[in-house]
Amino acid sequence: MIPHSRPTLDESDYRAVIEVMRTGYISQGEKVGEFEEKLSSYIGVKGGVATSSGTAALHLALLSLGIKEGDEVILPSYVCTAPLNAIYYTRAKPVIVDINEEDFNLSISEVKNKLTNRTKAIIVSHMFGQPADMAAILNIGIPVIEDCAHSIGASYKKTEYQNIRVSEYQKVGSFGLLSVFSFYATKMLASGEGGMVCSNDKELLSKMNDLREYDERDDFKVRFNYKMTDIEAILGLNQLKKLPAFISRRKEIAEKYNKAFSGHNFTVPSIGKSIVYRYVIRIEGDVETYINGIRDKGVDCRKPVHKPLHQYFGLKNFPVAERIYKCALSIPIYPSLTDEEVKYIIETIPKVLK
Ligand SMILES: *Cc1c(COP(=O)(O)O)cnc(C)c1O
Repeated sequence: MIPHSRPTLDESDYRAVIEVMRTGYISQGEKVGEFEEKLSSYIGVKGGVATSSGTAALHLALLSLGIKEGDEVILPSYVCTAPLNAIYYTRAKPVIVDINEEDFNLSISEVKNKLTNRTKAIIVSHMFGQPADMAAILNIGIPVIEDCAHSIGASYKKTEYQNIRVSEYQKVGSFGLLSVFSFYATKMLASGEGGMVCSNDKELLSKMNDLREYDERDDFKVRFNYKMTDIEAILGLNQLKKLPAFISRRKEIAEKYNKAFSGHNFTVPSIGKSIVYRYVIRIEGDVETYINGIRDKGVDCRKPVHKPLHQYFGLKNFPVAERIYKCALSIPIYPSLTDEEVKYIIETIPKVLK
């Protein structure tokens, strides 16, 4: 079976991890600091706070903004439950909004419809590698947390924000007040488990730094143990060096898929300036009827989102998320996919979807 996703690891990763093990510094240490520096400078922001997971990073980001019970936080319906959990940790109220047909990202008009005077933040998940419309989102004027778990390395051209025209592309994660990353095993770059919050705001960074660990403090307040280990950090650092190669290998595979799949009865994604974390096609009918058939042929395809968030609460009026949930199918794409596997996938998918 060709797995739906798989980490891309090589000898240099194994060696890096063993080198850290030999030093004895196996919890948070120098390597974590180095990873924070390298990743935030790659994104183009002042600093980062590394964490034990992307979920922990989201939690710290919300806490740094002072989000608490009685506040509301907007998030898209079509995303995993991690942002939803993080909002619940703070006891704030999640306000779920529908998405766009074109880019799977949260709908600006729906965000505007659901603003109240209690709205304290918007979590914008750039889905599958495709940047959300950051200029429009920033213009709303509410603090934005970019969720870049899918999209590290993607760029976006911020054209008109506060009447400033920016002609250069900037990396996602450099637009919001805060941005959050995940280095879970099968994300764009892996540290096993791990996450980071990046920001240009020194005060927010220092708040999160304080909340991340509890030991040897003179005052008491509720703090966490959200630290990343140096073993994870060195793996992250080593993977970061390979990120440009990972991005281009993914793009190369996506272009092969697009070429091979044109003229069939399903829609392929447009690639352009985005990166390809997930290769998501849209089929006619319900994907549920095809997933097992594709697996029987040895290719593990998935719904790219397990279940849209509004469905957990029985909420109505999410027509786009409902439609996409039915027709979107995620096909294996990752740098360690071999040319033979790519060829097999190209031959197999159209046969089953015919
Ligand atoms: C993976 C992911 C997260 C959470 O990251 P973890 O490291 O698994 O906690 C958050 N948002 C999105 C969009 C993700 O894909």
